Amino acid sequence: MTQKQNLLNLDREGLETFFTEMGEQPFRATQVLKWIHQMGVSDFELMTNLSKALRLRLVEVAEVCVPEIVYEEKSEDGTYKWVLELDGQNRIETVFIPENGRGTLCVSSQVGCALECTFCSTAQQGFNRNLSAAEIIGQVWVAVRALEGKANLSNVVMMGMGEPLLNFNNTVTSLHLMMDDFAYGLAKRRVTVSTSGVVPAMYRLAEVSDASLAVSLHAPNDELRSELVPLNKKYPIAELLEACKHYVKGEKRRKITFEYVMLSGINDSLEHAHELKRLLVDVPSKVNLIPFNPFPNTNYKRSSNSAIHRFTAVLKEAGLVTTTRKTRGDDIDAACGQLVGKVEDRTKRQLKRQQAQL
Ligand code: SAH
Repeated sequence: MTQKQNLLNLDREGLETFFTEMGEQPFRATQVLKWIHQMGVSDFELMTNLSKALRLRLVEVAEVCVPEIVYEEKSEDGTYKWVLELDGQNRIETVFIPENGRGTLCVSSQVGCALECTFCSTAQQGFNRNLSAAEIIGQVWVAVRALEGKANLSNVVMMGMGEPLLNFNNTVTSLHLMMDDFAYGLAKRRVTVSTSGVVPAMYRLAEVSDASLAVSLHAPNDELRSELVPLNKKYPIAELLEACKHYVKGEKRRKITFEYVMLSGINDSLEHAHELKRLLVDVPSKVNLIPFNPFPNTNYKRSSNSAIHRFTAVLKEAGLVTTTRKTRGDDIDAACGQLVGKVEDRTKRQLKRQQAQL
């Protein structure tokens, strides 16, 4: 028996091809998108505007298979964390952060992460595999249903586990669905891809999506950045900023959000702030400072509030819009950099670490 096609893997274009190949009209795609993503219906028998014959064929060749919530935790501050079972071996985490009538879902793109940013606990877990588009958009599907009547999901950020631009095609399919009026209909300002700086993929993204872009900068010079974000050795800051400028070119009010984790004594001095200010002077940018969230076996410490204030003042004085990310959900390990899920590590990184500690 051939495997059934999981329709959660297909965006509108993919569904149009799917139906055309079945000998059906392409408009079936929008009907089915609405059933799946807006109505939350996964049973073809219930899709009453499709003919009986089509419904029967769909039952035979297709399915709508969503990730399963293994548990849900709610933080004192209202943040939700869901652990989702994928395939028996791997689990990922998805976080929802409510705020004054709106709410942001933080979505994972990979099981673990192949990059080794020194201050991120997902990196310690090693890497297993890319998520399918169904598993990425499935996080949105599941969250919308779990929140029904409780909170409004208005924004999505791809800032969970993994590097979205190293899982390019599935990320793009999911972005299309997030922004498609027949699926989730989110405006481009409300859908953000966060990258550690995979430069060639940033150019490709500009071709196929107009989602907002956040870049994990974390240091104002190559020496320090290569230490914190080893990918910088491959794609240094100058190339990264060129790609950023290209991404927002021609669009007046668009800006790149630069994420900057505040690590005490490492990247948070006044000199660093001045260096950062000079670096960003000709890039349309916003800066988002993220107080470091600790995790077991890390030597880094969060910058003090006064260090963060001083740093902010320098950037603001230079006219840079600078915000500090509120730490949310850290009582349930749901804060940035604390997502670990359950990763069957294929890089043997966990093993190497354990051996190094002996
Ligand atoms: N790989 C992508 C997506 C991860 S997004 C990227 O690097 O952008 C998660 C954000 O949280 C990134 O900006 C990441 O650098 C930041 N982060 C990681 N670990 C953190 C920690 N321990 N404390 C605070 N922020 C952290």
